[in-house]
Amino acid sequence: MIDLQLHTTDSDGTWTWLRVAEACVSAGLKAFAITDHDTIYRRDEILAWGKGRDLLAIPGLELSTRENGQPVHLLGYFFDGPLGPLEEKLVFLRKGRVVRNGLIIGKLQKLGYNVSEEEVKSLVGQGSFGRPHIAQLLVQKGIVHSLREAFGRFLSSRGAAYVPKEEVPLREGIDLLHGAGAVAVVAHPGLLKRTPGELETSFDEWRGWGLDGIEAIYPGYSNEQRIFFQRMASKFDFLMTGGSDFHGDNKPSIRIGVGSGDLHVPDHLITPLLDRRDQILKAV
Ligand code: AMP
Ligand code: ZN
Ligand code: FE
Repeated sequence: MIDLQLHTTDSDGTWTWLRVAEACVSAGLKAFAITDHDTIYRRDEILAWGKGRDLLAIPGLELSTRENGQPVHLLGYFFDGPLGPLEEKLVFLRKGRVVRNGLIIGKLQKLGYNVSEEEVKSLVGQGSFGRPHIAQLLVQKGIVHSLREAFGRFLSSRGAAYVPKEEVPLREGIDLLHGAGAVAVVAHPGLLKRTPGELETSFDEWRGWGLDGIEAIYPGYSNEQRIFFQRMASKFDFLMTGGSDFHGDNKPSIRIGVGSGDLHVPDHLITPLLDRRDQILKAV
């Protein structure tokens, strides 16, 4: 088993990357990837930690992109070379998050709630922070009872304090990842607000942009979705990946490796990913 989508305290997870890595060993995984939002800050530590072990520790990220007016999360894996222009783009995205957090806090204050940017900052360390941290603050201050309520009332795109975040056009994101020696995979395509027909059209176009793969295995996919994404992968020659999207206590029903219990991402998916990485590195 492998797990190629895991979040840590460097973005919106509640476990440190080291705790996640150790849990992957305990779970008997053959490979795992740490994929925090818009940051690859731990790349060297993860590579060093993985040296000489019999499981593959992959540094990754989940890049915030946009396509056809909708957010699309783009997973990047390996990052063996210099990051190149991606590095600057990640700084831009994280600065955008800080500005956005301030705007969200401003809206909450206007609505009459006693919250401050300093309080959000005190909850977070280095990395990239956003709405889940503001949600946590709202729970701590007793303004809402749950993270769910915080999103429902204030932070979701229909919420009273919503502010959109900076995103990179998908096509540019794919190029940035390739330029950094990474394989580019669309995360949880089953969560996109597109019909199967629309998805098929998008996949066709994205393949032309150089997209390498799709996250075909993900918690909560229906049987139809699983079959559909497999068919799309063979039709467009996409690599297939899978991950639990583990976030620690921020998604308490999801466990490393097994998702909500029945996730199974087979080991053999790793080989074609590594082959693609080699091709990308040759082209950089
Ligand atoms: P951000 O990157 O700041 O826009 O936050 C996005 C993150 O917020 C996602 O990765 C989820 O972890 C979390 N999130 C988004 N929508 C909801 C929701 N309705 N309920 C709980 N968490 C959510
Ligand atoms: Zn997340
Ligand atoms: Fe995502």
